[in-house]
Amino acid sequence: MIPDTTDKIPAAGGEPSSPAVAVSAVRAGLKGRCPRCGEGRLFAGFLKVRPGCDTCGLDFSTIQTGDGPASFIMQIAGFAVGFSALVVEIKYHPPMWLHLVVWLPLVVVLSLALMRPGRGLMIGLQYRNQT
Ligand SMILES: [Zn+2]
Repeated sequence: MIPDTTDKIPAAGGEPSSPAVAVSAVRAGLKGRCPRCGEGRLFAGFLKVRPGCDTCGLDFSTIQTGDGPASFIMQIAGFAVGFSALVVEIKYHPPMWLHLVVWLPLVVVLSLALMRPGRGLMIGLQYRNQT
């Protein structure tokens, strides 16, 4: 049975929604869902944002994140992998080729894995703070 989600959508200019039924824009963004209704899909491809929500009609074109998610992801992944490589080098002194084989693919995989939730998070935060 599919629950009715129309009660989650606040009426335009209506009364403020209670926190108990409000959709978390951050949680919805991390899941790749619409920050207003939490149901419609946010992405058309891996990182391409849909023009609007299929469920509630929110226009996503007004939400622009630019390169914000990429810069945060680069810093997070770069610090995690760089710090890990430094610790492994100090403790075990592996050959340089082993560093390249382990850390370069890891930073690519980590960046790609974090990019979509990071972009969804930025969209959810921007939606929450602009309305
Ligand atoms: Zn929606």
